[in-house]
Formats: sequence, structure tokens, C-alpha cells
Amino acid sequence: MSGQVRVDRAVTSGTFSLDGETFEVENNIWVVGDDVECMVIDAPHSVDDIVAVVGTRRVRAIVCTHAHDDHVRVAPELRELVVAPILLHPDDRPLWTMTHLDHRWDVDLSDGQVLEVAGTTLRVLHTPGHAPGAVCLYAPDLGCVFTGDTLFHGGPGATGRSFSDLHTLEASIRASLFALPDDTVVHTGHGEDTTIGAERAQLAAAAVTALLSKTKRAPGEEMVP
Ligand SMILES: [Zn+2]
Repeated sequence: MSGQVRVDRAVTSGTFSLDGETFEVENNIWVVGDDVECMVIDAPHSVDDIVAVVGTRRVRAIVCTHAHDDHVRVAPELRELVVAPILLHPDDRPLWTMTHLDHRWDVDLSDGQVLEVAGTTLRVLHTPGHAPGAVCLYAPDLGCVFTGDTLFHGGPGATGRSFSDLHTLEASIRASLFALPDDTVVHTGHGEDTTIGAERAQLAAAAVTALLSKTKRAPGEEMVP
């Protein structure tokens, strides 16, 4: 018996560095699979913390939601240990090479690609914005989506640093994530779960607030529609 397909989570701590600054962060590790095989989503900080979730299962792939160092730091080390390919969208090459000059990933991810593990599927959604090669992984059978740093509980991911763009991110979220059913559970790269419906409502409310604040401008002040 291979058991039911399930999603396991662990939280691991370390640092995120970009643009000359370093921050303490906690990252989620997601593992999708049954009792026999699994897929690891992101490889932050600690191989031991990942292997503790994987157990004795065969790892089919190490999928990176994007190449910020807090999501890919131990990917090559994990690959050695569990003998599984690293998957990454090639648009994140500039970020990947900041962390791993001597290692490359194995397989390019692309929008619409379908990954299989333990009899279930994950569809790759290319969602640039937080990073140019950021992807989300939609698991229709499980009713969930793994969003990395594209969408969090409470809103879109950060876009203040190099290789990020807010308008691109919002367009990605609207086109790819808000096309999913409202009750889809969102498993994020940092912090707690949310749902597509909750985040859709949150973003709509934020847009109304922004619109109202524009209408309160002083008379004569230019309004940009
Ligand atoms: Zn990130």
C-alpha cells in the first residue's frame, strides 16, 4: 500500500540576502506525496529539516518556486543526498547564480507543464513579479496551490528588491491564481495558509481603499485614472 497522497509541512529558519542586506527568515518546506514517493517544494536552509519530512520516501523532484537564496540554498546538497533532479524556471537564472555559481539546476520549468507524483498532478503556473522565474504549483486533486513568495496570507509578495516588479506580480496573481476556485487552499513560502477567495477579497478591498484615497486629493491636483 502506498497510502493516501498528502501534503506535509515543516518550518525552517535561516537568512535571506539580496541587494547587500541580510534578514532572518522562517521558510516553509512543502512535501507532496504518499508513503512511497514524494516531491519537495523549495530547499531552504537545512537539508536535515527537509529529510525529516521526507523520511525514507523516494524523492521524485526538488521543485524551486523561485531562486531567492532562502528557497534554493540547500538544493544541490539535497540533490546529492536523495538523487533527484532540481526543477527551476530558467528566468530565475540571474538569482540562482548569485547563490550557486558551481551548480546548475537540472530541468527547466515552463508555464502549463504538469508534474506527477504519487498518482496526483501539479500544474506549473509561471507567475513572474516577485522574481522573474517565480512559479506556483496547482494541485487540483488536492484543492491547493503552492505559491512560494508570489501570494501570502494577507497579500502579494514583496517587490522592493532587484528583479521584482509590483505590476507584473499583480498581473500574474490576477491571471493565474485568481483563475483558481475560491476554496483553493494557498500554501505559502513563508507563514500561514490562506485561500484564493480570501486573498481575492483582500486585494479588492485594498484597491477600493487606494481609489478612495485618490479621490481625497486637493482640488486641482492631477488625477491619473
Ligand atoms: Zn523570495
